[in-house]
Amino acid sequence: MKLLIIEDEHSLRESIAQYFTEGGFLCEQAGTFQEGIQKADNFQYDCIILDINLPGGNGLELLDHLRKDKKTDGVIIISARDAVEDRITGLDLGADDYITKPFHLSELNARVKSLLRRKYAAGSNTMQAGVLQLDLSAKTITIDNILVPFTKNEFELLMFLVTNQNRVVSRQAIAEHLYGEQTDNFASFDFVYSHIKNIKRKLKEKGHGDMLQAVYGLGYKLTV
Ligand code: CA
Repeated sequence: MKLLIIEDEHSLRESIAQYFTEGGFLCEQAGTFQEGIQKADNFQYDCIILDINLPGGNGLELLDHLRKDKKTDGVIIISARDAVEDRITGLDLGADDYITKPFHLSELNARVKSLLRRKYAAGSNTMQAGVLQLDLSAKTITIDNILVPFTKNEFELLMFLVTNQNRVVSRQAIAEHLYGEQTDNFASFDFVYSHIKNIKRKLKEKGHGDMLQAVYGLGYKLTV
């Protein structure tokens, strides 16, 4: 799961990033409005944690921009201002949740998890895609109700394909989903191919290899 933390208060941003990284999330950070909007425009996040008062602009404007652009990344607004108007505006603009500073990281964590359950699993912990069932909290996958071992990266990749089901996903998008900004340092995306190969083999062993197809020159597609 990939998070973007848009918050100008450095120590708070770092502590959120550290907390969620320890929880197994891939975290990216932005300290200004511009940096935030650039990342949100160019990448896909499972959840964006968004401060309102940012250098260079207002978080609510950023949210408005994303929703007008049909971006469906989950958004939790964090702000020192607990004014009712901000809360209402944020929710009206399409924020999924709102938390007022100061807050406990454990509460933010609970809200992020709850958002992800709503977003991906209709409120439960399991995400169903045809014969696949993904347990978001245990990070396990069953195929035809049989537990099949997947590595952490394979789980994240398969979940990314499930959330983009019936669409072609490029190797670069997969690489960015798995490794975030580090992707710029990679000479090739061959590792994506090797993860895909392993996932395909596991699907095939259960008789469902056809679900995952390479689309020549474009990427991969999971058909459900
Ligand atoms: Ca701020």
